[in-house]
Amino acid sequence: MVMSEIVKLLKSAKKVLIVTHVSPDGDGIGSTLALLHGLNQLGIEGHVVIDDEVPEGFAFLPQSGKILRYPHEMDGYYDVAVAIDCSDEERMGNVKELYMRLPVKINIDHHISNTMYADYNVVDSNAGASAELVYQLLKLLGVEFDSDISTCLYCSLATDTGRFMYSNTTSITHEIAGDLLNNGADLRKIAEEIFEKKTLNQVLLIGKAISTLNVVEDGTIAYITVTKAMLDECGARPGDTEGLVYYPKSIDGVEIGLLFKEEDDRIKVSFRSKKVDVSKIAAIFGGGGHVLASGCFLEMPMSEAVEKVVQACARAVKDVH
Ligand code: 5GP
Ligand code: MN
Repeated sequence: MVMSEIVKLLKSAKKVLIVTHVSPDGDGIGSTLALLHGLNQLGIEGHVVIDDEVPEGFAFLPQSGKILRYPHEMDGYYDVAVAIDCSDEERMGNVKELYMRLPVKINIDHHISNTMYADYNVVDSNAGASAELVYQLLKLLGVEFDSDISTCLYCSLATDTGRFMYSNTTSITHEIAGDLLNNGADLRKIAEEIFEKKTLNQVLLIGKAISTLNVVEDGTIAYITVTKAMLDECGARPGDTEGLVYYPKSIDGVEIGLLFKEEDDRIKVSFRSKKVDVSKIAAIFGGGGHVLASGCFLEMPMSEAVEKVVQACARAVKDVH
């Protein structure tokens, strides 16, 4: 129902603003680019605008160079705004000011914590990635799936489902992935660029980060901490911490793995869980996400953030047992 209304709105749009969250990931970048390609194919103008830099690992995605960084020079006005993979407007960073001002706001997402902030909300927490919903939208729009669109969406699926291994992976995810491969998704390029390549600095950072590992609460909670100084020492970029949180989570017996990362004057926390609903723990601190993968920001020193979050996790683990 909502999807068909969105199709009508997009078909009559003059210029579409497409946004995703700060610290953009494969789903955010792949899905927004795929929608941009699709709209352009139909002769509809649009821009992908993100209040952050595009991680270098995604630069290979077709036309990623077209992504604009907010604030950008605007030529004309957008009449329709589409947010993809943003559970709430704060996740957009400052581009939310532009998004929220526009007369028609669309929200396409798969986070269980989505706040339904738009006029038209397509939110399905059963979707493995927002890309599954963008795939359906592009089909309804009558877009022809070329290799560019297919590569962007496949990248989203492969990254957000942990290479089709997380519990959010369904038979629908695989059906869509199969269709994308049939339409020219460049599987090898995605594998090489995203999963099989690391910079020397990224590998050095893994070593440093793992040396901070702490396992507490009878082995049920493990965490690592990454400071700005550590990033500097390794010559690493903020996005290079991607994936580090899986080391503490992977330890046998650990129920919640955490990564604490120093950013400007706040601490970014990543939660990964095997069973406990960490979206509820992240929500205590104003964050959110998925049941088994969530995040939040704390404005306090590292040691205090660690103490508060570990305590909250310990309570949640005890509640489950
Ligand atoms: P990550 O730990 O990889 O940054 O994020 C894991 C999941 O939690 C992602 O789905 C992401 O969207 C969500 N997430 C991370 N940080 C925040 C936050 O500050 N607020 C909300 N609502 N979700 C977040
Ligand atoms: Mn996603």
